Amino acid sequence: MGVSKAPCWPCELFYGGLNEIIEGTEFVIDEGHRKPYPGWMFSGIAELDQYVSKRVWEYMDELLQSVRHLERRDFVPPLLAIPMQPLLPSAALEHLSEVLTDR
Ligand SMILES: [Zn+2]
Repeated sequence: MGVSKAPCWPCELFYGGLNEIIEGTEFVIDEGHRKPYPGWMFSGIAELDQYVSKRVWEYMDELLQSVRHLERRDFVPPLLAIPMQPLLPSAALEHLSEVLTDR
């Protein structure tokens, strides 16, 4: 089928569905731009619309599974992983130890 513009994604799905559902026909269309056209509407042919809808949802499932799930806590290192630094210099710690243990 010759048209002046590259077919949108649902149109590609639509013609793919026609080729699968109707035996003995093959609609050949140019490679599409893979974007959905916002004004696209279902054809009203139930079997074909179900085919398109099913492919869209399959794609959405694949897309959702391919996106890595990260939560805010994934970006914060666990507290135990932070090396502990003494708050006071070692000489001061030594003095404090002596005071506290009454040496
Ligand atoms: Zn289209």
